[in-house]
Amino acid sequence: MQVHAEAALLPGGWTRDVAVTLDGAAIASVVPGTAPDSGDIRVATLVPGMPNLHSHAFQRAFSGLTEWRGESRDSFWTWREMMYRFALQLGPEEMEAVAALAYAEMLEAGFTRVGEFHYLHHDTDGSPYADPAEMSLRIFAAAETTGIALTHLPVFYAHGGFGPTPAADGQRRFLHGPDSFGRLMESCAARLSRPQDRLGLAPHSLRGATIDEIRELAETWPGRPFHIHAAEQVKEVEDCLAHSGARPVQLLLDRAPVGPDWCLIHATHLTAAEIAGIASGGTVAGLCPVTEANLGDGIFPAPEFLEQEGRFGIGTDSNVAISAAGELNMLEYSQRLAHRSRNVCTWHGSTGGALFAGALRGGAQALGAPVPQIVAGAPADLVALDDALALDEPASLLDRWIFGRGIRVRDVWAAGAHVVSEGRHRDRERIVSAAARVLRELS
Ligand SMILES: [Zn+2]
Repeated sequence: MQVHAEAALLPGGWTRDVAVTLDGAAIASVVPGTAPDSGDIRVATLVPGMPNLHSHAFQRAFSGLTEWRGESRDSFWTWREMMYRFALQLGPEEMEAVAALAYAEMLEAGFTRVGEFHYLHHDTDGSPYADPAEMSLRIFAAAETTGIALTHLPVFYAHGGFGPTPAADGQRRFLHGPDSFGRLMESCAARLSRPQDRLGLAPHSLRGATIDEIRELAETWPGRPFHIHAAEQVKEVEDCLAHSGARPVQLLLDRAPVGPDWCLIHATHLTAAEIAGIASGGTVAGLCPVTEANLGDGIFPAPEFLEQEGRFGIGTDSNVAISAAGELNMLEYSQRLAHRSRNVCTWHGSTGGALFAGALRGGAQALGAPVPQIVAGAPADLVALDDALALDEPASLLDRWIFGRGIRVRDVWAAGAHVVSEGRHRDRERIVSAAARVLRELS
């Protein structure tokens, strides 16, 4: 299959008249300055597919259903209670249907890989399924059906809070001890079958796992993507300080082998020393700006972090609104509001271009995948963006996609498969109707 782009974002920048030949799951050749052949699929512009480094697919089930106010002030913690309520209702089939919807929407948004931070492990009463990897297998199936590349991140979740305190009843489906978690990891490693898929792991947070357990996991499974929620909420920082004498990120930096394989999800509330520690260690900050805004988490200290060449990627986390452009938009706009300034996340040139390139690089690093780029030999993960006004100005295309209107994802290839055309996933109708049946049953 050959795709001809009027302009393509190659490693050296925007290039005119590019023919990209796909051979199976890989790019076979990239030839600039060439006229289209009659059999080519012709697109206006082509960019690499974006990694989505943090997703809880099941949370797509209640997107938009927690946006009303109760009697008391709503917060992350009141939202979490509602999330637990939904989490207790989804069986394996429902999980697969909702995950397929989320992944199809991710592909339609220009994401070609997802990091699934997966903690809905057990049956609704908290007992393991006959196959303890049942729910992970449903995630694998949803990724295969839709075509998105998967970095699966089974979550180790053992406690209800700092101390540690016992888990709450609403957390019963999430829990593992070290031995059963080890068996889950072995089972997932044996059953992930597509070459593009990866297996990492994720202690949930310093609430769900102690620092000693986290260190033990890192020693047992070295060299794999290693993700953890950290410093998302002020209360979490205060509780961690009260129990350990250290802030969450400081505790991890001091007592665990935090390095380039690690991804600190959110990392919202940081001191100067913590910012320097993450940046200098080459660790990725996993930013989820839309969810962080939705939950009222706070604002990531982007200027200080980027000044030190800190690495970041983007995630759709709660999947309340699945959009690659939307995450990058919120990342920059939250900084503008906080600093009363413009074009904060870059030092010169296109802000959209800088955000897009940074999130490609950091997202791939966090998910144990090659940096997405349009070169021969790279995975054929490609996104065609369509410009309704056909302005023929590729230099501003990413800025207009992220900050403006009129640019949409038209085609997506994932591992060489043409999974989205005319903005719609190839299996959209079936996936949406299966998910709609599940969503109508939820209360
Ligand atoms: Zn999360």
